[in-house]
Amino acid sequence: MSEQLFSRLGLGEFNPAAALGDGSWRDGHGGFASMTPVLGLPLALVGRATEEDREAVVQQACRSFLHWRDVPAPRRGLLVRDLAIALREHKADLATLLAIEVGKIRSEAEGEIQEMVDIADYAVGLSRQYHGLTLPSERPRHHLLERWQPLGPVAVITAFNFPAAVWAWNAFIAAVCGDTVVWKPSPKAPLTAIAIQRIADEVSRDHGAQGVFTLLLSDEAELGQALADDRRLPLVSFTGSSGVGRQLAQSVAARFGRCLLECSGNNAAIIDASADLELAIPAVVFGAVGTAGQRCTSTRRLLVHEARWDEVEERLTRAFSRIVSGDPLAPGVLLGPLIDEDARAEFVGAVAQSLAEGGTVLHGGRPLPGHGFYVEPTLVVAENHWPVVQRETFAPLLYLIRCPDFETALKLNNAVPQGLSSSLFTLDLRHAERFLSAAGSDCGIANVNAGTSGAEIGGAFGGEKETGGGREAGSDAWKAYMRRQTQTVNYGCQLPLAQGVHFDA
Ligand code: NAD
Repeated sequence: MSEQLFSRLGLGEFNPAAALGDGSWRDGHGGFASMTPVLGLPLALVGRATEEDREAVVQQACRSFLHWRDVPAPRRGLLVRDLAIALREHKADLATLLAIEVGKIRSEAEGEIQEMVDIADYAVGLSRQYHGLTLPSERPRHHLLERWQPLGPVAVITAFNFPAAVWAWNAFIAAVCGDTVVWKPSPKAPLTAIAIQRIADEVSRDHGAQGVFTLLLSDEAELGQALADDRRLPLVSFTGSSGVGRQLAQSVAARFGRCLLECSGNNAAIIDASADLELAIPAVVFGAVGTAGQRCTSTRRLLVHEARWDEVEERLTRAFSRIVSGDPLAPGVLLGPLIDEDARAEFVGAVAQSLAEGGTVLHGGRPLPGHGFYVEPTLVVAENHWPVVQRETFAPLLYLIRCPDFETALKLNNAVPQGLSSSLFTLDLRHAERFLSAAGSDCGIANVNAGTSGAEIGGAFGGEKETGGGREAGSDAWKAYMRRQTQTVNYGCQLPLAQGVHFDA
């Protein structure tokens, strides 16, 4: 099956390290393997971009920008519209590749490609809508306005867990804004990136938009660092762990560049005394176990009102024991593998550390034997302040934390370094409104009677504190990809100065 799939997606016998976005590729000398976590085996060898490759790609992105910024925005939208059509056509194949390369179950892999289509549709509409402001001028016969201009070539560095959608969130909005894109995907998902680049190349050629989307592949940190240091790239959009984000952000800031950070989460759901468990339990199970707990929005902490503790414990243990794990493309499977051996070791370490702190495992806790990087869905009774609970562990691991009342749960929701997603299950209007108030959740996303995981593209997506403060996708997130220019035009015959200043030279 892989061979036919690979040939349909143009992943034949070549060893690419970089794509110039005009259909030409630069071959790698040496390289690294794309692995499948499903079996723990290599899938294909991919080239490692050299400094020359990087230079060629950045120069191409700079050159293409000079043309692309002058194309009217609605025409730029037509490129993205045709990309959405192509992605719809390739949805099943791309989803299968993504499932093989990062281990998502089919439904979630298809959901990720659908998310690319959704953001493309959104970007097409945006290409006819983004707008500036006209403001009243204090000076006679003057007009004052704010106009949004294209920013330049944008570096997009992506994480393994959303190897397709996160590029689309950035690339499609950037493209309609008049920017060009240099993509550095995760070395854990290079084939997905190559397949997407091939589709983008074909569509770009039809629109005379060669070089709008380019690609650089590497498994070495130096490449991402070099992009962060490159003054020709006014924006670096980084999705990944807070540790790497912190380091990159400092490099970008040192050259007065702009960084859009989408870093780690450590998300809590609160089960209030009045919670409807018919909603809460499935939402929490999806949040904790979906994508094998490897979403930035995964539910990792469950803050349970003690009045509901026994019921929640019993129902969650039952739900976790019914989860079928295994080959993510097999029917009925809900839990695929973790991405690699390191991720499995981190899971084992986190369980051991929580036991050492005094935790109790209610379900799971062990890696599964055999090929691939599978672990049991795991429930641990824990306390919020433990160091292991304070950090993000990318695994189907849920910490149950007992709370005497709603106010304590709210406090604990916020008592972690990260601030991405949060949710509250309650039928109490006062608690719901307080959770959503200025004194409520401190996260970028706050949901009531819906889980932490599974955002729609229409709202701005991102989080606070060590999650990095970036916003992507819908709403006004496009502003990050543009520069704002305040313009004043004097259409009179006098030269009045602002604030009534006289300067009669
Ligand atoms: P990671 O930080 O290891 O890698 C992310 C990207 O940075 C990859 O492309 C990687 O090659 C590159 N990179 C790694 N080290 C680098 C360095 N020193 N300099 C420059 N680039 C470097 O993250 P990951 O394991 O791929 O992804 C998981 C993390 O991403 C989790 O923390 C998750 O929460 C986060 N994430 C956040 C969001 C969000 O929207 N907030 C979305 C998806 C994932």
